[in-house]
Amino acid sequence: MIFYYQAVERIPDKLSNGIAYHNEEFGLAALLCACGCGHRVTLLVPDSHQITSDHGLVTIRPSIAVCDAACKSHYFISAGHVEWLPAFTQMQAAAVMRNQIARHVSRDLRRRSWIDRAWEGTVRALNRVMSLFRL
Ligand SMILES: [Zn+2]
Repeated sequence: MIFYYQAVERIPDKLSNGIAYHNEEFGLAALLCACGCGHRVTLLVPDSHQITSDHGLVTIRPSIAVCDAACKSHYFISAGHVEWLPAFTQMQAAAVMRNQIARHVSRDLRRRSWIDRAWEGTVRALNRVMSLFRL
């Protein structure tokens, strides 16, 4: 199967075989599993994967490991071509999932700390205003 790149404003509900849909605005890509099992693979771009178009043929890095479907497929897609890799063992799959979760958590922490800083700044500004009123 050859995979083509398609930029979309919205990932369709029904995906076609051989098309990697990329929604840049929402940082998502989706494709049907290359093994033909029909499993919908969703990728976070660029958080977990990079997706590029080479004359319409898609390249996805790093490899796609289908941990949440029965096929347990593992492959690269390079210029539209699927390069099969050995399936992850259950332990490797668990490690990948853990890493992905850890990435999400760290992203949330970064976001929270930014809000915290903004909030602290607001509190400081309010305190300054309050102290002016006390004078
Ligand atoms: Zn599959």
